[in-house]
Amino acid sequence: GRMAQLARLYLNFDDSGDLLRTRIAAVTAHPLIEVLTSAEIVDFGGYLGSFSATVRAAAPEPGGAERLLTVEVGAVVLATGLSLYGQEHLPEYGGGQYADVVDTLQFEALLQSGPIRRPSDGRTPREVVWIQCVGSRDPEQHRPYCSKICCMAVAKQSVAYRRAVPDGQAYVFYIDIRSQGRGYDEFVQRAMEHYGVVYLRGKASRVIQQDDRLEVWGADTLSGKSVRLQADMVVLAMAAVPSPGSDVLARLMRVATDESGFFAEAHPKLRPVESLTAGVFLAGAAQFPKDIPESVAQGSGAAAKVLQLLAQRELVTEPTVAVVDGELCVGCGRCVSACPYEARALHPHRKLATVNPALCQRCGACAAACPNMATTVRNAAPQQVLAMADALHPPGLAEPRAH
Ligand SMILES: Cc1cc2nc3c(=O)[nH]c(=O)nc-3n(C[C@H](O)[C@H](O)[C@H](O)COP(=O)(O)OP(=O)(O)OC[C@H]3O[C@@H](n4cnc5c(N)ncnc54)[C@H](O)[C@@H]3O)c2cc1C
Ligand code: SF4
Ligand code: SF4
Repeated sequence: GRMAQLARLYLNFDDSGDLLRTRIAAVTAHPLIEVLTSAEIVDFGGYLGSFSATVRAAAPEPGGAERLLTVEVGAVVLATGLSLYGQEHLPEYGGGQYADVVDTLQFEALLQSGPIRRPSDGRTPREVVWIQCVGSRDPEQHRPYCSKICCMAVAKQSVAYRRAVPDGQAYVFYIDIRSQGRGYDEFVQRAMEHYGVVYLRGKASRVIQQDDRLEVWGADTLSGKSVRLQADMVVLAMAAVPSPGSDVLARLMRVATDESGFFAEAHPKLRPVESLTAGVFLAGAAQFPKDIPESVAQGSGAAAKVLQLLAQRELVTEPTVAVVDGELCVGCGRCVSACPYEARALHPHRKLATVNPALCQRCGACAAACPNMATTVRNAAPQQVLAMADALHPPGLAEPRAH
C-alpha cells in the first residue's frame, strides 16, 4: 500500500521499509495465503460464505501473459485505501505547471531518494512552503471533509526537511491544526518550537513562478496581514480521496459508498467494519482517510469478524427474510429488478419469484414493488408492522405535542 511510498513515519521516524519487510516476508511465505500482485477483481457474485471473484492478475513470470482466475471465498475485506486529489483541480497553486510544486506523496519520494533535491535543477531547496487543506474542507468547490492525515504528514515532512537541511527554512500555511492522537499535538509543537518550522495561520491564495523561484501569496489571519513568501519548493497537502477503481468494486459487490466515494459502513457506531453486504468487510482508508495505527486497528477488527464467520459450521441468518406466496405471484419480475441486493430471481421453469435468504437484507423493496401483494418480509408483514405502531401509540391516545 501507500506505506511503501512513505520515507519515514510519525511519531518516531520509523523506517516504513523496515516495518513492511518482515510482514511481507511472513505473508508471502505462509502456506495458506496466496498473494496475487497487480491483480484486480473484474467480476464478482455469490453471497456470504460462497462468493466467487474473477480476478485479472499479473503473469507469474516476467514477460508472461496476464491471467484470469476464479477465486472462491467465504468473505471479503475491502482495503483499497486512499489516493490524493489531483493537483489539476487547483491550478492556482501551479501543481503540474511548475516542476518545484509537488504534492505530499511526491515529497515522500524525494525524501526516500536520498539528499533532498528540488525537481527542476537538482539544487538543495533552502526555503520550502507547505500548504495544508488543499482541496479539503471546501464543500463549495472541492471535498467537504477534513482529510485527517495531512496535518500530521506535513508536520513530519517539515521536520524531516529541517533535519536533512539544518540551515533551510520550512513554512506551513494552515487553517487550523487537527492532530488527534496520543502524542500528535506534542509532535506538531516540537516541529514549531524545536525545529523552527514557521506555521502561518491563513490560506495561501496562489503560487507563481518568478525566475527560478516560486512566490506564495497568502494571508496571515492572526496578524491580519497579507504575506508573500519566496520559496524554492512548494508542497501541497492534497485531499485524500478513494483509490481509483473503488467505485467499480462498490458496484460489483453492492457495497454502499458515501457522497465522496468512500465505502460506507453498515452502522457508524455499532457495525464500523461491516458493509451492508453480508460477508463484505471494510478496513483502513478505503472507508475514510485514516493513518496507519487506525488502519491497522480497523483491519484487525475486520479480520476478527471474518474469523468469527468462518469458524461457524452453519450460517445463522435473521428470521426476517422476504418470502413469496406462490398462489399470488405471477412471475412478472418487478421484485427482481427492485431488489438492491440481487437476492431475487425468477424460477427457471415456473412463473414464480424466488428469494436467496443469504443475500436478502430485509429491506422490503420487493414487497413495495409487487403489484399483487405476493411478497412479504417474514415477521414484518404489513399487519405486524401496523400492530407494532398501534402498540407504541394506541388508537385514541392524544397526539404527542412538540414542546
Ligand atoms: C503523504 C502521506 C504521508 C503519510 N504519512 C504517514 C505517517 O507518517 N504515519 C501514518 O500513520 N500514516 C501516514 N499516512 C497515511 C497512510 O498512508 C495511510 O494510513 C495508510 O496507507 C492506509 O493504509 P490502507 O492499507 O488502508 O490503504 P493504502 O495504503 O492506500 O493501500 C491500499 C492498497 O490497495 C490497493 N488497491 C487499491 N485499489 C485496488 C483495487 N481496485 N484492486 C486491488 N488492489 C487495489 C493499492 O494498490 C494499495 O496496495 C500518510 C499518507 C500520505 C498521503
Ligand atoms: S488533516 Fe489538517 S491539513 Fe488535512 S484537511 Fe484536515 S485540517 Fe486540513
Ligand atoms: S413482483 Fe410480485 S408478482 Fe411479480 S414476480 Fe415478484 S413476487 Fe411475483
